[in-house]
Amino acid sequence: MKAHDGMYIGGAWRPAAGTDTIAVVNPADEQVIAHVPAGTAEDVDAAVRAARAAFPAWAATTPAERAARLTALRDALAARQDEIARTVTAELGAPAQLAEQVHAGLPVLITGTYAEMVATYPFEEKVGNSTVLLEPVGVVGAITPWNYPLHQVVAKVAPALAAGCTVVLKPAEDTPLTARLFAEAVHEAGLPAGVFNLVTGLGPVAGQALAEHDGVDLVSFTGSTAVGRRIGALAGGAVKRVALELGGKSANVILPSADLPKAVRTGIANALSNAGQRCSALTRVLVHKDQYDEAVAIAAEAVAAYTPGDRLGPMVNAKQLQRVRGYIDQGVREGARLVVGGTEAPLDRGYYVSPTIFADVTPEMTIAQEEIFGPVISFLRYEDEEDALRIANGTVYGLAGAVWAGDETEAVAFARRMEAGQVDINGGRFNPLAPFGGYKQSGVGRELGAHGLAEYLHTKSLQF
Ligand code: NAD
Repeated sequence: MKAHDGMYIGGAWRPAAGTDTIAVVNPADEQVIAHVPAGTAEDVDAAVRAARAAFPAWAATTPAERAARLTALRDALAARQDEIARTVTAELGAPAQLAEQVHAGLPVLITGTYAEMVATYPFEEKVGNSTVLLEPVGVVGAITPWNYPLHQVVAKVAPALAAGCTVVLKPAEDTPLTARLFAEAVHEAGLPAGVFNLVTGLGPVAGQALAEHDGVDLVSFTGSTAVGRRIGALAGGAVKRVALELGGKSANVILPSADLPKAVRTGIANALSNAGQRCSALTRVLVHKDQYDEAVAIAAEAVAAYTPGDRLGPMVNAKQLQRVRGYIDQGVREGARLVVGGTEAPLDRGYYVSPTIFADVTPEMTIAQEEIFGPVISFLRYEDEEDALRIANGTVYGLAGAVWAGDETEAVAFARRMEAGQVDINGGRFNPLAPFGGYKQSGVGRELGAHGLAEYLHTKSLQF
């Protein structure tokens, strides 16, 4: 059977229970490129049963055995890197270089970090007269979004497998083809049948069935705050573990002592990466009132390099395109000044939005409060440092941020007062081992590194 026709359950591709399918559309040219099965509660049930059956044996493997399988998985992903990059470009529209380096490259790196970590991770610790055992939580229901189709999957599956958990994955309906390649890599890596299972389908059907299933011990969800709230409530009702990676509205705070051009240009590159479809995108730029006009001018010049269809990919689907255009219209209606960009289609086809900069944005405006998930950047003026802090912390989100200052100590002092799960200091680089997750409504729990592994473990203390 061709992979496209089935679900990966219990170590094999099996026919879906129903006949409904989901069309996969290339957002760069609006053409249907494939169909995948729309899973039902029945498919989810079969996958959860397979994961339950596989759990005792997988949980009993030694860390060295799990390290060997994760190494094989990393190698299988590396061998398919070109195919993965092409597939991400086809279903997400990501520019080729971004697809290769980030979408296909980062998952290899992250899987490698867990292959290494699990071999030496302290699954036992001494506390006085007790020995504390860190044991796998059980069956994980993983629900992922489309913005980083493979990274979001790997950030859950790799630590879950490292911990000794088994997994059922329900990937986003817009990007199921990359998830299918991941299932093929799992198969090639020789993971025992049932340790990883894939059910494609719609969120309110297959996703909901997975989140509600009695046989799932932990739900790990990345996506919108609206859906995350429902999943958190369901998990709370069933008293099961939950990890939520939700939305963001991150601030790029440029203090007066900073290198202004560098801070603005680096921030723009961050905010436009993946066409702004990033939960941690630095879409609110906070500049001191005396440097404000200069900063906006630098930004207007910098975005000219991000040509839609070349360096800037499309929005993932027509609905997202309308959503982003709606926010741009709302920004104008609420009195923000459109400096560059706007709602006009930059190309004849594809769901593209031109890089858009708003100035004279005030903190209470919708475009300064709500997550846009597109290439739209707001410049806000602050009076002094306290004002900057109030604005930076003045949303319901708390996922990420950045601070720029003349010296690191000054930037760190500000960063300590920010309500955000990760803050880049003077353009600090991404660290695949650093915990990633949100304060406030940006989520519960952390992904990546040792903190990401700990999410999939619970503790048992033995007293002597
Ligand atoms: P979404 O919440 O609509 O969908 C995410 C996943 O949840 C998809 O697989 C979807 O099918 C599923 N889903 C939808 N409804 C469901 C339901 N009722 N029950 C169970 N599952 C359901 O989000 P999206 O539009 O795919 O992604 C964009 C959002 O994700 C943005 O808000 C963004 O900030 C957030 N996001 C957060 C992070 C992070 O790490 N914090 C990373 C990427 C994206």
